Amino acid sequence: MGVIGVFGCKNAAELIYYGLHALQHRGQEGCGICTTDSTDFHRERGEGLVIEIFNKKKLSKLKGDCAIGHVRYSSGNMGGLDNVQPFLFKHHTGDFSMAHNGNLVNSRQLRMALEAQGSIFHTSSDTEILAHLMKMNRRKDRIDAIEEALTMIEGAYAFLILTKDKLYVCRDKNGLRPVSIGKINGGYIVSSETCAFEAVGATFLRDVEPGEMVIFEKDKDPKTILFAGEYSYKMCAMELVYFARPDSEIEGINVHTFRKNSGKYLARLAPVEADLVIGVPDSSISGAIGYAEESGIPYEIGLIKNKYIGRTFIQPSQELREKGVRLKLSPVRSLITGKRVVLLDDSIVRGTTSKHIVRMLKEAGAKEVHVRICCPPMHHPCFYGVDTSTYDELISAQFDVEGVRKMIEADSLFYLPEEYLLKAANRPDLCLACYSGKYPTHLYQSKGEFNIEHKF
Ligand code: AMP
Ligand code: SF4
Repeated sequence: MGVIGVFGCKNAAELIYYGLHALQHRGQEGCGICTTDSTDFHRERGEGLVIEIFNKKKLSKLKGDCAIGHVRYSSGNMGGLDNVQPFLFKHHTGDFSMAHNGNLVNSRQLRMALEAQGSIFHTSSDTEILAHLMKMNRRKDRIDAIEEALTMIEGAYAFLILTKDKLYVCRDKNGLRPVSIGKINGGYIVSSETCAFEAVGATFLRDVEPGEMVIFEKDKDPKTILFAGEYSYKMCAMELVYFARPDSEIEGINVHTFRKNSGKYLARLAPVEADLVIGVPDSSISGAIGYAEESGIPYEIGLIKNKYIGRTFIQPSQELREKGVRLKLSPVRSLITGKRVVLLDDSIVRGTTSKHIVRMLKEAGAKEVHVRICCPPMHHPCFYGVDTSTYDELISAQFDVEGVRKMIEADSLFYLPEEYLLKAANRPDLCLACYSGKYPTHLYQSKGEFNIEHKF
């Protein structure tokens, strides 16, 4: 999922619209924009791509110089228009809109406690919980209410909260989900990824820190509040490995450079005699370039991805599939035939993609296929908003490396170890929980473990 906000700029909705296009890779199921003109809120949202949901007429209705936007893919929550963000809440103390990237780990406990106290939820999304917590709080001051609500939620989040005169941007205390601040046309822009800044001509200022809330208010400098007593720098490793666009800079590292470094380490740790190096488009191209550069084996574009196949793509029938009808990804047969190929991929989740690609390359005549993965094996589920939430889904939770190699029919298989992933990112720490099982937060697996009564 991706969030974006603009504060104090003319045509805020247009800027968000272009920014959402740049964040489209983070979610294709739904998107929305909510603006405020200081008096009212205006919102448009829908299920589909940014290009499908918005047009000139809709954008012209989104008046105001402050706005937030969201792109969505469902991660555990139900789909449907009700769950498409930004959400808009009506309340006698002041309406507000919210957008969230991430997942709360204590949502079930909080939801049960809030419902027991009379809350009625409109969606199955975690995001609504923060809104209820803010309003359960009897203190008058909104900043205090948000701050206190933030201390009660646990998990991964970049929250944007838009009121008629302010924009609040909050990041969880472990910094699991990234969010950056930029400057544009005398105002400010915030985004899950800096690639959105490039798209609208904004300049990067800084990242929001773990456990920080930044408040934008008209004619004032942004204010910052550190709401978490303890904080750490545990950004999600998969942001760098898979989610983010290569042109984004996250916490001081360019995503392409990180991936290229990963490929270089793989070449040093797992060299192999081969004729060419290829990467699975799009996220593994940088890794393949790094492997090729370090090993001296030529890099080739051996796989072509059709960029125009969307959600509504009709899968070929079994008969056509057997005939080799492949529209999403195709091998460049003349390059591959008779060659020993090193194949870089960012990660293996279920293993179906790798198996499919190895087979495809062999059918195209590859003599050998050596698979190199740009992260460690995923042994554990993620509870922080990434769509791998059960052990059953993970091939590495069932098989060791040799077992996976056999399953995907590769001639050899090597994963980048944790310490080299950190080296590639040039930082001491990241969240590596899906590889190591060391979760940076409590997981609140058992019912009723969380008691919010004392807070009110
Ligand atoms: P598979 O092993 O077939 O489940 O798919 C692995 C591929 O899915 C990887 O090469 C990534 O490109 C992509 N991927 C990695 N993590 C995720 C995720 N959390 N959600 C969706 N796709 C992912
Ligand atoms: Fe990212 Fe894995 Fe941590 Fe989830 S568990 S936040 S996917 S590094």
